[in-house]
Amino acid sequence: MPRPTAHAVRSMVQTHTDNSIGDILAKRHLDADRDRWRQRLRDVTTRDVEAVLATRPGSYRLDKLLALVSPAAEACLEEMARQSQTLTRQRFGRTIKLYAPLYLSSFCVNRCRYCGFNVENRFERTRLTIDEALADAERIAREGFRDILLVSSEDRTFITSDYLAELAARLRERFSFIGIEIYQMSAGEYRRLFEAGIEGVTLYQETYDRQEYARQHPGGPKADYDLRLRGPDDMAQAGMREIGLGVLLGLADWRIETLALGEHASYLIRRYWRSHVSFSFPRLRPACGVPRDEFPHLLTDRNLVQMMLALRLCFADAGLVLSTREAAPFRDHVVALGPTRISAGSRTNPGGYSQADRGEGQFEVSDRRSPREVADMLARHGLEPVWKDWDRAFLDTNRP
Ligand code: SF4
Repeated sequence: MPRPTAHAVRSMVQTHTDNSIGDILAKRHLDADRDRWRQRLRDVTTRDVEAVLATRPGSYRLDKLLALVSPAAEACLEEMARQSQTLTRQRFGRTIKLYAPLYLSSFCVNRCRYCGFNVENRFERTRLTIDEALADAERIAREGFRDILLVSSEDRTFITSDYLAELAARLRERFSFIGIEIYQMSAGEYRRLFEAGIEGVTLYQETYDRQEYARQHPGGPKADYDLRLRGPDDMAQAGMREIGLGVLLGLADWRIETLALGEHASYLIRRYWRSHVSFSFPRLRPACGVPRDEFPHLLTDRNLVQMMLALRLCFADAGLVLSTREAAPFRDHVVALGPTRISAGSRTNPGGYSQADRGEGQFEVSDRRSPREVADMLARHGLEPVWKDWDRAFLDTNRP
């Protein structure tokens, strides 16, 4: 068989590179030079939005998402909500999954300007031994949860993949789903964690705007925009079933961030059909040492609703996740319109379930209701709270 020429090798590499999410965003000018998108958003008319809403909901096109997140679509929110609710009920039934986050460490090597855990912030930091984490997890299990999210800052010397694998192995008996929201890992580390029983990873890009990303991340391993962007590929290649995407809402123009999110999700869905994509909507919250007046792009409640509805109308099967960062009245208002998974009774300080006053939290929780109160609220909306998603025995027979 003839050896490929240097030109053929170059073009193969080129083809692969051209298809990366980084190249797609650059080609569409969604990572920089966003003025052209601001203009396109302003050019959308109510008639354009109505034309989109007259088509069958649930599939993605960038121009469709553009119409749905435009200022013109604000006049069509009721119709968007009606279609989103119908589509969500068709795909997910009347169920909402409940989960609880378990914070493992508040030590961090990064300098993210929006976060209370950033390395320059002076406060008493905490990290949990495996036994302490298990004690918190037991409290969570006793509330009824079988879906747990392990959360940590970038504390690689303590929260290692060995630590996480051991913790997951010990949680597997008690929890039917274990997810992580932790610093970015390599594909090899993700595979190891998948084999230990961790099924999902959420990794926020924080912002798809390169310039803003650099400004918000002045130091630490997280400062590499391109490396961050590759994280979801590594998770999917490691076999993770759930891949969570999101931006930190408040850092950049939410309308353009949503377009970039749509492109990223569409890219992952086309490439990795075995993994399920979900969107989270973390809005900037007050946190220790973080001045809020530094963030000119904070969203109104109405903006956030529009963003959720627009994504649902483009991604019929995507999970939409809403955390306790949001206030109770807001969660009550939107819970029936599109979300599929919500947290309840959250503590954002490591050890907070066993000792309420232990250490500083990453941000202030807004909805402080107990898990039972949240479940009752769902029932009042005619929704069924799901504490356990699937059976571990089923997953084990489907493991590689
Ligand atoms: S956002 Fe994460 S990585 Fe950045 S400072 Fe906070 S905990 Fe550390």
